[in-house]
Formats: sequence, structure tokens, C-alpha cells
Amino acid sequence: MQRLLEGHRKFHDEVFPARRSQFRLLAESQSPEFLFITCADSRIVPDLILGTGPGDLFITRNAGNVVPVTGNDVDGCTATIEYAVEVLHVPYAILCGHSDCGAMKAALDRTGLDKLPKADRWLHHVEAAFSHRQPVNPADGSGAELASLIRGNVVAQLLNLRAQPAVARAVAEGRLKVFGWYYDILTGNIEQYDEQQKRFVPLLG
Ligand SMILES: [Zn+2]
Repeated sequence: MQRLLEGHRKFHDEVFPARRSQFRLLAESQSPEFLFITCADSRIVPDLILGTGPGDLFITRNAGNVVPVTGNDVDGCTATIEYAVEVLHVPYAILCGHSDCGAMKAALDRTGLDKLPKADRWLHHVEAAFSHRQPVNPADGSGAELASLIRGNVVAQLLNLRAQPAVARAVAEGRLKVFGWYYDILTGNIEQYDEQQKRFVPLLG
């Protein structure tokens, strides 16, 4: 806990005063450009890997970067998506999965889930990943099997995202673009799903 207190003291005493005018503007409104949907994993630090900061990303996170299917009972993720699209009018939505994802490991090997009844039920949201598995990439090394499933989950959740009524409307009207990403923790690389070619390609080309 001490670490957090020290971190906040630094923010309070040094960072905030230097950016006071930015926070004054942000105190009364936000107009983020990006809806960012990713996993709860502690190793995914969007502002670090994307060079963004306060006011830039409207974020929803959960285990496995899931977008529950439309028609599912209300949940935090889809309510957040709806708000981002209908109220904040974000022009971009990005769904980002990542290497070594614990949720996807658990989907592959369900050992121990009997002690995690909530997680066990939650993981039904990633079952569609199995039918969207991507080709195994030898560059992923010993985690290649898992990585192909994780990329498959990005494709599956991207379909769920596009099927959300607010998203489908905004995309049809040309006011929203939707992207699926795979972030590799080891290399720091991001791949984007090319929906025409139906494969992941390096974001930076
Ligand atoms: Zn994860």
C-alpha cells in the first residue's frame, strides 16, 4: 500500500501542478477519441503502450477482453460500449487481446475452475474463440497454441462488438470504425486483424 501512497504523493505534488490547466478542462467534460476494450491483466497498460493520457481512452476491461453477445443480460462492458458510442460519439473502437492471457489459458485447460464458479461461468463468453482460431505462428514459440486461440478470441469478440446495436448503427452510418488487436507482452508488438484478408498483420507494417 505504501507504494501507492508514495506514487499518489508524487502525482499530487509534481505531476498534477504541472498539468493543472489540462485537468481544469477535463474536470468538466470528456471527449475521448477511442473506446478501448481490453483484458483486466495488469501487464496491459494502454497509456504506456499507446502514448495516451487523461481524456484520450474510454476503457472497459474484463477477464479475456470479452464483449458479451447482444441479447445477453445487461453487463458493464456492453453498457460502457453503448455510452461510448451513443453519448461520447467515439469515432474509433479497439478491442485488444494479449499474449499469455490467463482467461484464455483457463478456457484451454479448465483445471481448478471448480473453485472459481464466477470465472467458470464467465468463460462461456470465450467459447467462440475455438471456432475462430488463427493459424499457429511459430514465432510465438512455446505459447503458439495459446496465441492462436487468443487471436481467435479477438476475432470472436470483434464479431460480438460489431453486433452490439449501437455499434452496428454507428458503423453503418460511417461514424465509427472498429479494430481488433493482439498485443504481445514479450516483444511489445501489436498486430491488427485485417478483416478483408482474415488474418492478423503488424500494426506498424
Ligand atoms: Zn488476459
